[in-house]
Amino acid sequence: VQWREPPTIRRLEESVANRIAAGEVVQRPSSVVKELVENSLDAGATSISVVVKDSGLKLIQVSDNGHGIRYEDLPILCERHTTSKLTSFEDLQTIKSMGFRGEALASMTYVGHVTVMTITDGQLHGYRVSYRDGVMEHEPKPCAAVKGTQIMVENLFYNMLARRKALQNASDDYPKIVDLISRFAIYHTNVSFTCRKHGANKADVNTVIAASRLDAIKMVYGMPIARDLMEIGASDNNPTRSVFEMDGFISSANYMAKKTTMVLFINDRLVECTPLKRAIEVAYSATLTKASKPFIFMSIRVPSEHVDVNVHPTKREVPHCKLLENAIRLRRNPKEASDLTSIQELVRDID
Ligand code: ADP
Ligand code: MG
Repeated sequence: VQWREPPTIRRLEESVANRIAAGEVVQRPSSVVKELVENSLDAGATSISVVVKDSGLKLIQVSDNGHGIRYEDLPILCERHTTSKLTSFEDLQTIKSMGFRGEALASMTYVGHVTVMTITDGQLHGYRVSYRDGVMEHEPKPCAAVKGTQIMVENLFYNMLARRKALQNASDDYPKIVDLISRFAIYHTNVSFTCRKHGANKADVNTVIAASRLDAIKMVYGMPIARDLMEIGASDNNPTRSVFEMDGFISSANYMAKKTTMVLFINDRLVECTPLKRAIEVAYSATLTKASKPFIFMSIRVPSEHVDVNVHPTKREVPHCKLLENAIRLRRNPKEASDLTSIQELVRDID
């Protein structure tokens, strides 16, 4: 056998390594929007607006009225692994914020042009600064600003031509962004959201702080949907154990849709759970005609040791969660699911 000369192993240039890593964290315009909105929520914002130009490839702009960013922190704001949310690994177990990796903003600067405008409480003016490849392009410039932070990401994937082309040819990411903001808006009833295309005078999502979840759903998805919803709730009511709680709204048999809408939050995080979705669809199929699919909004709280938040940010599927698994197994059998109340049981008969 002929031996092949082994190739030399070399260290990648840091900027190349960073761009590759960034392309994994920031996969498409909607992932940028998700990260920016979660940052605004972490900053305690009660008002968040999103503006998108050219499906997000030209511009994504997220403005909030949160606590802002300290002037002293601006130099390292967009470096990798810089965060105000996590100090020790153990904190992950109890962390309440959406972010903690300190990678989102950094990633954006490696695959796009990032400009930050921010003002903190009690300051007379704000600061504006642009970033490339993790670092400031110039000293922060004083600017007029209203409370909070505005972050602009321009020319996304300008240096990843294959990705840019693929996104240009693929279906527009804007509907995904509208869908994402809609989901956040019905969960965070104490935050007002807008989402619009740049230059459009009408917003595609436009909510005010809502008195109730149902009001929020009305604002986002419209009265016809809200009218056909039923409130659900469940908890394990076990005094000896930390508590499982679920509340939500699910559509009645009057509701008609071609595709299932399932909005799921577990411990305040927007997630996907395909097995739970399938199990609910199965339960519904007993009452709905084949062509009609349900609308489900569900918020679940489980003890934090059941949810591992430390999975890759792009993996929105909830990781292994024993409580949910049991619930799903119990109701897999379609014969058991004879009417809509079985959906309540689906999450009630837990563990
Ligand atoms: P992470 O959210 O994981 O901490 P990011 O890269 O998303 O990392 O953000 C880095 C840091 O920048 C955050 O920890 C936070 O302190 C600050 N930051 C980002 N966006 C905002 C915002 N909209 N308002 C206030 N601070 C922000
Ligand atoms: Mg973040």
